[in-house]
Amino acid sequence: MAYPLSATKLVTYNQCPQAYSFRYERGISLPGAFGSPDLGNALHQALAIAYRDWHYNDHKPDWEWFESCWSLCVAKLSERQIQDGRSILQGYYRDFVAPLAVMQRPLGIEAKIKATVQFENIEFSLNGRYDRLDNVNGKLELIDYKTTKTASTPESVDIQLGLYAIALQQVYQQSLKRVSLIFLRAGEVLSFEVNDDHRQKVRSLIAELALRLRADDEWVPKVGGHCDRCGFAQYCAAKTEKPEPLPEGERKLRLVQLALAV
Ligand code: SF4
Repeated sequence: MAYPLSATKLVTYNQCPQAYSFRYERGISLPGAFGSPDLGNALHQALAIAYRDWHYNDHKPDWEWFESCWSLCVAKLSERQIQDGRSILQGYYRDFVAPLAVMQRPLGIEAKIKATVQFENIEFSLNGRYDRLDNVNGKLELIDYKTTKTASTPESVDIQLGLYAIALQQVYQQSLKRVSLIFLRAGEVLSFEVNDDHRQKVRSLIAELALRLRADDEWVPKVGGHCDRCGFAQYCAAKTEKPEPLPEGERKLRLVQLALAV
């Protein structure tokens, strides 16, 4: 069985190996989730239907098509959320569909991607998902919809770019050219060109992680601004004078995957 990795796990490891160990090696859970994801889920679903089920016989759909897709996704929403979602989707149509001469059929919609790499005789499976994958003049462009209120560059975006690039290369045998984040509420796009440095950064991080797993090395705390948002600060001797003992029932450090592929 391969050792599963995702962009989120690599970002955590890059920020602080000890936080990674608490979360993913010892299996300590973080305090509960943030607000209701219903509106965001409904918007993602409506956009997936709009691109997947459009017949592509005309150059592009009109707003009524997007609105009809929206109406299929609102069962769990309040009246207020339905109105908000419709107006967010109208903004999307106005900014990203109406100006097009032709709306192209995407290469993929809401799909998972998986690839494998090996370091130190450990097989890692790289897992990710995307909202939309376009083929723009023979180059891959990955689209992710974001529903946060303001547009901002995600933490360690270079790691996400590198992981997507490695995984998509294995799945489609094509290079990923660009990742675009569409902030639906703000009506803004942030685009990032993918280059070899991104791939190399991810490979180096996985290689370092492999060595640490292989040697059962110390998971050193890395103190920084990210500690303010760390859910494990109460257990961390680098951050708290009298750290609490780790919660009962945590997994012992896993050596599992290390026996593999040897
Ligand atoms: S508080 Fe900071 S140093 Fe401690 S585990 Fe969290 S991120 Fe790492």
